[in-house]
Amino acid sequence: MSVDATTHDATADRTIAARLRTVRRRIEAACDRAGRRASAVVLIGVTKTHPPSVARTLVTAGVGDLGEARVGELLAKAPHVPDARWHLVGRLQSRKARDVIGEAVLVHSVDRHSLIDELSRRAESAGVVQRILVQVNVGDDPAKGGCEVDGTLDLVAYARSRPNLAVEGLMTMPPLPPDDADPVEAARPHFALLRRLRDEARERWPEVTHLSMGMSADLEAAVEEGATMVRVGTALVGPRRPHAWEPGRSGSGAVARPEGDPR
Ligand SMILES: *Cc1c(COP(=O)(O)O)cnc(C)c1O
Repeated sequence: MSVDATTHDATADRTIAARLRTVRRRIEAACDRAGRRASAVVLIGVTKTHPPSVARTLVTAGVGDLGEARVGELLAKAPHVPDARWHLVGRLQSRKARDVIGEAVLVHSVDRHSLIDELSRRAESAGVVQRILVQVNVGDDPAKGGCEVDGTLDLVAYARSRPNLAVEGLMTMPPLPPDDADPVEAARPHFALLRRLRDEARERWPEVTHLSMGMSADLEAAVEEGATMVRVGTALVGPRRPHAWEPGRSGSGAVARPEGDPR
């Protein structure tokens, strides 16, 4: 029995709706400061570790784009959340490339030649064009995925040469800021660098337009520096749970409650 398919938790819905208003206001305020239109920024709700009920709440509240960090969790959740557009935002192993084709509207984490080879091969045999972003490790952080800054344009060119891949932009995850730093200002130069790389790429290839950057802690800097997609998890859905969600796992709906839930 799937608890998630049936549980409707009105308190959790209200909590998420309130958080969503706050996140939208943050995006709008950053757009105002930068002279941008809020409609130019797509909000991707990252639901990793949270059950499908949470994902459905976001869709109902108007967040039609959802992100997952793992292929397995994306595939497990997607059937429970009709109407969502799923983005794969986390690292992708080549052996899982096949699973993501046609399931994710956009793969944000393409960062090496071998993955491009595998994705294009799988997209070709499925007869689809897979939309992708090239992930860049702007902070040269060994803990983060992404290609080297200097290799970005070559990797974009390599992916563009594949008929079954459409390269639509760049993505990054900046390094974790030091404890005493302001996360917004710590991230800003990394976002500015990704934007310069995107501008360079777009000069050659006009379809390379998107900038996927900015998360819960630093979205202001990302939007001010030109993000067209922000990937927001905890600020929308609360703290991460200890495990990836999977069907049948306890804590998938009725058992686990949001922290601070008074019931
Ligand atoms: C988890 C995750 C996010 C969201 O992070 P928050 O800090 O919870 O907003 C964004 N991008 C990627 C790649 C992630 O894995």
